[in-house]
Amino acid sequence: MLLHHLSTHYFNMKIKDIILQIEQIAPLSYQEEYDNAGLIIGNPEDEVSGVLLSLDTTEAVIDEAISLQLNLIVAHHPIIFKGLKKINGKNYIERAVIKAIKHGIAIYAAHTNLDNVLGNGVNRKFAQKIGLEKLEILQPKPGQLKKIVFYTPVKDAEKVKQAIFAAGGGQIGNYSECSFSVKGQGTFTPGKAANPSIGERGHRETLEEIKTEVLVPALIAEHIVESVKKVHPYEEMAYDIITLSNQGSEIGSGVIGFLPEPLSKVDFLAMLKKTMNLPLIRHTDYSGMIHKVAVCGGVGSFLTQSAIRGKADAYVTSDIKYHEFFDAENHLLLCDIGHYESEISTLEIFYEVITEKFPTFAVAFCRTSTNPIQYYQ
Ligand SMILES: [Zn+2]
Repeated sequence: MLLHHLSTHYFNMKIKDIILQIEQIAPLSYQEEYDNAGLIIGNPEDEVSGVLLSLDTTEAVIDEAISLQLNLIVAHHPIIFKGLKKINGKNYIERAVIKAIKHGIAIYAAHTNLDNVLGNGVNRKFAQKIGLEKLEILQPKPGQLKKIVFYTPVKDAEKVKQAIFAAGGGQIGNYSECSFSVKGQGTFTPGKAANPSIGERGHRETLEEIKTEVLVPALIAEHIVESVKKVHPYEEMAYDIITLSNQGSEIGSGVIGFLPEPLSKVDFLAMLKKTMNLPLIRHTDYSGMIHKVAVCGGVGSFLTQSAIRGKADAYVTSDIKYHEFFDAENHLLLCDIGHYESEISTLEIFYEVITEKFPTFAVAFCRTSTNPIQYYQ
């Protein structure tokens, strides 16, 4: 167990403070529609004594949190996924929920929102573990970028820009606060309704305005507009939202990159087994050398064709079914390393993100292996 020494420095640290750190790298809006990431049990305003990191939230994990006196579990897989209609303890999910609530343990999950980001996500960690370089998203989410254009009086332009950035706009690759501004003249003629004292029609007025453009992930476009509305001086805020055909490269499924040197199939498999700590690898045959490699933690056969199109020599994922192995057709080496094994290093992301901000806060890796699969060798 790697328990950071318990600290007295963080009085009144709240659950929401931890959540904020995680959602800065993996906003909830990036999760897939079917998902249920977020704070599943608990009150964000409650004080947090410490965090236990786990891939799944089983009863054994909750027991561990209780014994370590850590009242927040941060997991990758949401314990409540499809919803619960009754909670009477008839299966492991209901029993875990009952136990957590009874003992005041909060449960938070960052799932597909953490899968879908290149910046510091599940698949970047996976790729880095096996030494891949020049990483790109394997299957970017289409229509993921929008451009928002705001028109603001000169004196309010900076305030608007700040609101855009605070809401997550203007992130491009490793750069933040990216925007483009130009000064121009806006004109308007107030109608009678706008100012009843002016008679039928007012005079045309001219106003110095700043036009500010930012690129934003489509998923947060509305959120950005709502945030800017709060600080924008116009009663009818002037803005455009434009859908771009450019393919964004920061959000999507899987990651593809290069090994520093090409490896033979056997050497690649040996490296994979060692670096990912695997009991075994299920794989297809492949006659070429391995240089370009695609990875996807968790269920990944939906990306096999993308990996082939991306000219990967190997695609490493998990939960591949018998007939899905045929899809490789010697285009690439298709490897199934196990769901748990492909995602367990995700906990390191949580650890890094939380301790980067709160270096002496109690954050522990779960000792319980939650892998339901055992290997008889
Ligand atoms: Zn998973």
